[in-house]
Amino acid sequence: MPKKTTDNTITDAVSVTSNGASLTAIPNMNNILGHPLLSGYGRERIKKAANDYLRDLRSAILSDSVEAVPCLDECAAQILGKLREGVGPLTRRVINGTGVVLHTNLGRAPLGADLTAMVPELFRGYSNLEYDLETGRRGNRGAGIESLVRELTGAQDALVVNNNAAAVLLILSALAKGKRVAISRGELVEIGGSFRVPDIMEQSGAELIEVGTTNRTHLTDYADAVTNKGVEVLLKVHTSNYKIIGFTEDVPIEELAVFGKKRGLPVLYDMGSCFLIEPRLLGFGDEKSARDGIASGTDLICFSGDKLMGSAQAGIIAGRRDLVGILKKHPMYRALRLDKITLAALESTLSLCRYPEEAMKKIPALAMLSMNQPELHRRARSLAARLARAIPDWDIGTTEVDDETGGGSLPSIALPGWAVTINPTRAGVDDLERELRAGRTPVIIRIKDDAALLSLRTILPGEDALLIDMIKEARDRLDQAV
Ligand SMILES: *Cc1c(COP(=O)(O)O)cnc(C)c1O
Repeated sequence: MPKKTTDNTITDAVSVTSNGASLTAIPNMNNILGHPLLSGYGRERIKKAANDYLRDLRSAILSDSVEAVPCLDECAAQILGKLREGVGPLTRRVINGTGVVLHTNLGRAPLGADLTAMVPELFRGYSNLEYDLETGRRGNRGAGIESLVRELTGAQDALVVNNNAAAVLLILSALAKGKRVAISRGELVEIGGSFRVPDIMEQSGAELIEVGTTNRTHLTDYADAVTNKGVEVLLKVHTSNYKIIGFTEDVPIEELAVFGKKRGLPVLYDMGSCFLIEPRLLGFGDEKSARDGIASGTDLICFSGDKLMGSAQAGIIAGRRDLVGILKKHPMYRALRLDKITLAALESTLSLCRYPEEAMKKIPALAMLSMNQPELHRRARSLAARLARAIPDWDIGTTEVDDETGGGSLPSIALPGWAVTINPTRAGVDDLERELRAGRTPVIIRIKDDAALLSLRTILPGEDALLIDMIKEARDRLDQAV
């Protein structure tokens, strides 16, 4: 055993500063390491955090900026703070005050307690991920989810992968490699984060044949491509994040499906984002559900798990059994398959979707999308009143806002909502925005017409108290800066 002398070296240097705070009064490293407050952390980690803290403390003492040397308990508390900060500095929980429900930069759909109930248990131990509990043999990963997708969409078979970009890549690689694929010029979309249909097509080894024009594509354009350009696969992509308006025409998926059947060509439909429950129940009667996608007669559909479905990041593929069978056997599937934690979250979501009324309450994204304006107004007034009591010298009010679905879905639909407006007295809204973003739990707000807005739709139930604390802390930092 090496002698533990090094831990104590910091107290060896004896120096007394002019205000009397002595370096010798700094608590001893061994006492810090054994402090009960820090018992949850390993020795190595405590030591590193303690060394950092003590180094700063010593230089503060030497530069005369410390009144009294903190006692052992105080030092331990400070070091605990440092250790906690160090746990997750990169990915952190934030409060979403933007009113954008599926905010791609903020992790899209929030999952909430009901969808993640099984997750901690699965993280801790083993699971029957690929084990059939009835036969005691190797089982099929995701089998439960596939049967739920079949039930909810009416499809013959289904498959889940890492995200919808992966779904499109797998479908094209397995079914269209070396083949010519027709797609309307109006559907050559780029979804944020460099998902571009032409690029994915190239990666998959399929050859893109553009048909029609940007604003108008007719069935005769597809027919011409099949007859004269050797097209063997038809792809339709939902234009998720923009709308072409004016003099437009596109071929509805139902017509394309009929045409494909007649010519014996597979019709693939990238829906991007769709509901798993009846859209009408949520007040989106004009939108499509996954069941509508299958009912259109198309051979395969795919869509994201974390957009309007409201679940974890995933790509859901559903459709003809023989085609899904080909995908399941493709080597790329092995590289794109899902992990057990995501599967658990998807399973919870899909199970809930069997009971739409419950789904609308317990799937946070769906609850947010279906919130009505009077309810949001009530919540905005209540939050504004609490904030005004906490920070009497700031100008706090409420205003009507247009929230958004986000996530590149339903681009033309504004969701009427309510926000709290904050006008800090001695600072600008930009300063407030920055300080809220820098808080212990960052708060992301929207600035519109020089007002700081906190939209109630995307603030989770139960987040109000924390939100008020974060705003108070931001106020304190702003006041200090003045
Ligand atoms: C969002 C979207 C994608 C990409 O889905 P991810 O789940 O983000 O990978 C692909 N196609 C369309 C039409 C989309 O809207």
